[in-house]
Amino acid sequence: MKLNRRHFIGTTAAATASLSAPMVLADGHAKPRVVVVGGGAGGATAARYIAKDSKGAIDVTLIEPTRMYYTCFFSNLYLGGFKDIEDIGHSYGSLAAGGVNVVHDWAVGVDRDAKTVSLAGGGSVPYDKLILSPGIDFVDGAVEGWDLSAQNAMPHAYKAGSQSELLKAQLMAMPEGGIFAMVAPPNPYRCPPGPYERVSMVAHFLKNNNPTAKIIVADPKPKFSKMALFQEGWANHYEGMIDWIGEDFGGGNVSVDPNAMTVTIDGEETKVDVCNVIPAMKAGRIAEIAGVTDGNWAPVNAVDMSTKADADIYVLGDASQQGDMPKSGFSANSQAKVCANAVRGALTGSKVFPARFSNTCWSLIDTNDGVKVGASYEATDEKIAKVDGFISQTGESADLRKATYEESEGWYAGITADMFG
Ligand SMILES: Cc1cc2nc3c(=O)[nH]c(=O)nc-3n(C[C@H](O)[C@H](O)[C@H](O)COP(=O)(O)OP(=O)(O)OC[C@H]3O[C@@H](n4cnc5c(N)ncnc54)[C@H](O)[C@@H]3O)c2cc1C
Repeated sequence: MKLNRRHFIGTTAAATASLSAPMVLADGHAKPRVVVVGGGAGGATAARYIAKDSKGAIDVTLIEPTRMYYTCFFSNLYLGGFKDIEDIGHSYGSLAAGGVNVVHDWAVGVDRDAKTVSLAGGGSVPYDKLILSPGIDFVDGAVEGWDLSAQNAMPHAYKAGSQSELLKAQLMAMPEGGIFAMVAPPNPYRCPPGPYERVSMVAHFLKNNNPTAKIIVADPKPKFSKMALFQEGWANHYEGMIDWIGEDFGGGNVSVDPNAMTVTIDGEETKVDVCNVIPAMKAGRIAEIAGVTDGNWAPVNAVDMSTKADADIYVLGDASQQGDMPKSGFSANSQAKVCANAVRGALTGSKVFPARFSNTCWSLIDTNDGVKVGASYEATDEKIAKVDGFISQTGESADLRKATYEESEGWYAGITADMFG
């Protein structure tokens, strides 16, 4: 990792401080101040846990531009018709009532010397500890012919809300026998089974509403998460509808033309009706602005999610480069609890428990046909390291698959309550 002089000073000073003097609070403020940027799976959880568990001993400010957070998790189920958009929308009112100072604005700058975060609307917020959980942004030029100005013609729907609604509207408007194309992302990206659960949900919708329609997936990868389970499910439920073109068949050699609505895969141009472009990803831009990224992601210490570049800045969830955990909401929520515990310990001297992490990713293939993959993890000096894992098997009974889907429903209710209170 390349460290500039400022990073070096920040790291050295912080390491020395943790060995000697108690923390000096910014501006001589009476209470320690934690600022959290991003009110998603990582940020909302961290803000809520620090406010709740410190019982007023720490001032917590959450900076989040949107007033409603639409979960990417279960947004595919919305596309498939299993959920309404209202089912996946959550407000920040309970967090505010729980003592979190919720500021609806964009964080646009981080001054690591003054320890302040500046806001798009003007002004700045001081911090003693800063937690960044901004999710993802897209790598410029990742898919030839596509940029953010084309996201209305060719939606990504990899940030939920209006993009999910747009993709659903396009799906519903497809002509009889039309073509739905997906450009899948390269590793690493948010939610490894996400694109393939989406293919399943789109196929479910089309089977019921437009059964002669076709789905083409251009994929730069030779294999993907839960591949055998998805391929079995696609053969069982959607035979002949899905054409997955992997790396071996030129799936990574793709360009799109949003005006002409064409997709060119390995030199072959196809006119399509809907094109879901999911470009390569990187950490949300504020992590880069704060100077804590190295390449596309922010390297962190597994024990507490503090960044390698600055011991007072923590990065959670998708934006972090942490080791073995997938970029999922479950992971971000799990990392947030470890981080909240460590931050509270550093600021108030409360007990810090050993870092343990867990994750499960469920995917719905068709009605009551749910599959899952998961693991537990621990912190090592190098990374968050996988300890053991499990995955659904091909050929499972319908009862087991139904139970797996019901488990995912319980998880959704649990995690959203854990995030927002
Ligand atoms: C289709 C799809 C399906 C998925 N399904 C699942 C699933 O079933 N299970 C699962 O566990 N995960 C799933 N995921 C992944 C999951 O949504 C993400 O991994 C998770 O949301 C990451 O949490 P985060 O806190 O890193 O980012 P996010 O939850 O995206 O939160 C980031 C927040 O930061 C805010 N923000 C960004 N920049 C700034 C800034 N400069 N200032 C202030 N705020 C800012 C954003 O507005 C946003 O609210 C899915 C993802 C997709 C796309």
